[in-house]
Amino acid sequence: MIQKPTLEEIQNKIQYRLVEKLVASEKHYRLLVENLREIVFTIDEEGKLIFLNLAWSETLGYSVEHSLRLPLNSFLTVDSRTKGEKLLQAVLQDKKTLKQELCFQHQNGESVWLEISVASHNQNQASGTLININNHKKANAQLKYTAYHDSLTGLYNRAAFIEFLQNEIDKINRHSEQIFAVLLLDLDGFKSVNDSFGHLVGDRLLIEVSHRLQKCLNSWDIMARLGGDEFVILLPNLRNTDNATRIAKIIVKALGPVFNLDNNEVFISTSIGIVLSTSGFKKPEDFLRNADIALYEAKAQGKGIDKTFDNQMHAKTIARISLETSLRKALKNQELEVHYQPIISLENYRIIGFEALVRWFHPTKGLISPGVFIPIAEETGLIIDLGWWVFQQACQQMVIWQKNFPQSKLQFMSINLSVRQFTHPDLLDKINEILFLTGLKRKFLKLEITESIIIDNSEANNIKLQQLRASGIKLAIDDFGTGYSSLNYLHRFALDTLKIDKSFIKQIHIPGKHQAIVETIIVLAHNLGMDVIAEGVETKEQLEQLEKIGFFGCEQVQGYYFSHPKPASELEKMLTNSLYSIY
Ligand code: C2E
Ligand code: MG
Ligand code: MG
Repeated sequence: MIQKPTLEEIQNKIQYRLVEKLVASEKHYRLLVENLREIVFTIDEEGKLIFLNLAWSETLGYSVEHSLRLPLNSFLTVDSRTKGEKLLQAVLQDKKTLKQELCFQHQNGESVWLEISVASHNQNQASGTLININNHKKANAQLKYTAYHDSLTGLYNRAAFIEFLQNEIDKINRHSEQIFAVLLLDLDGFKSVNDSFGHLVGDRLLIEVSHRLQKCLNSWDIMARLGGDEFVILLPNLRNTDNATRIAKIIVKALGPVFNLDNNEVFISTSIGIVLSTSGFKKPEDFLRNADIALYEAKAQGKGIDKTFDNQMHAKTIARISLETSLRKALKNQELEVHYQPIISLENYRIIGFEALVRWFHPTKGLISPGVFIPIAEETGLIIDLGWWVFQQACQQMVIWQKNFPQSKLQFMSINLSVRQFTHPDLLDKINEILFLTGLKRKFLKLEITESIIIDNSEANNIKLQQLRASGIKLAIDDFGTGYSSLNYLHRFALDTLKIDKSFIKQIHIPGKHQAIVETIIVLAHNLGMDVIAEGVETKEQLEQLEKIGFFGCEQVQGYYFSHPKPASELEKMLTNSLYSIY
């Protein structure tokens, strides 16, 4: 017979089963914890590790056995330790539950970012987890890098620069004795490099430029690329305001020597606009805008120049913007007129052609010189419409004169062509269209182009010049001798006429240098098959000097001595009354 178990035996059995269950459950959870990918830890009241799972050694390289009894804080990088200590104190003493990002040091020395979540429990201990956020941190850092850097040069970008500049403005608000400067740079002629050599060479150039600029700066100066060929520099801690212009001049000089890019020799120069903190602006945008105004001034004065912003410049800019607005309306409101200046043959002193010169009669400001508004029209692109309007007027006028004054035997109408008009893809179509509409024969049209078009030496410009000439249109190089010394370039192009700039003629009566230059230019032009027009003949002496050069001298003259540019109606009288000769 089976004996009934005693109560004690039953109790023992239940207890045994419970213990067995507990052990199994403990084993189950330990296994779970051990195999978690996140680190699980427990620390004692001193912050020393008393439990760790295997993820600890997988994440940080240290063995669990050797890490136990060491302070958790000792595994942080030096920079993170104060933060770590404060966190553990708050958890252990104030019984808080906290979460934070901390940087640990892997056994191999690398930094590992972990997110700690820790809570205290009884017995003055705390337990928590450490989750690896290294990838997330890296991605964030990469995003931040991209957001603040220019991908081509690796320099800071506009967003980063504005933050640095804001910091600097805040700093001088606190320590007003300090000075800083903002330098805005723009490469002169970068567009032609891109157009002539292609974008890859253009990109290489920007990188090389950034290297040269870096060499001009101190380690604490900040440089950024704003886009295109625009760079900006922040010079903090300047001892005096002159230092900014001194550095600007060093930069201009550093960019002077030739750049050798993939077997191409490229020359570039830079203009620089400077704004000093002493000007008192409070916002980064104000600094950049006014640096841009100063840069514009620098560019207007030539290449390789630096200009420091002042209030007059601001007033000038406002005036320019107002002029720009009026110019947009001028064409529509019929405020523009074309005047014509006769060009005289020195062979028989007859008018053989005219140059068309646009005039602007502003309703309140009166007559505005093309020297003032043509550059604005160029910049804004208005020159395209304006230029074609002049072109059509002049062609029409020439046809009328040829019909009404056949005896005059006018040989050409000379029309100025701006760089923008010249580089426009529709150039040839547009010319053909106007010639067709007005009925002017191609051989009576002469286009005046500037030296910058031929100095550019791009294939596209070359082809266009050849096409124009092959079609029977005549080409003249205007204002020869100003700006560039393009003697080397001239022989590559087939041009008909060279116009010597008036600055040479003005001083031609002074024996010596200028006389010799004019004679040299004439000989050169003749050798290249071109005839010569002397521009800006104002006096009898100047004319006589030109005549002295003799038979092989200059063929034609133009200037106030003969006639100012005038409206067509006034010139008609001259064409009739003077029997085709005004001398
Ligand atoms: P440019 O083509 O070299 O024209 C000659 C300039 O010299 C004209 O100035 C003319 O009035 C001036 N001039 C003529 N004879 C004398 C003289 O004896 N002494 C002096 N001191 N000057 C003389 P303007 O009309 O003020 O034009 C200035 C410039 O504006 C022109 O120089 C040309 O580059 C540009 N321009 C004028 N009209 C047009 C146009 O319709 N289209 C384009 N693209 N540019 C134009
Ligand atoms: Mg001209
Ligand atoms: Mg000229």
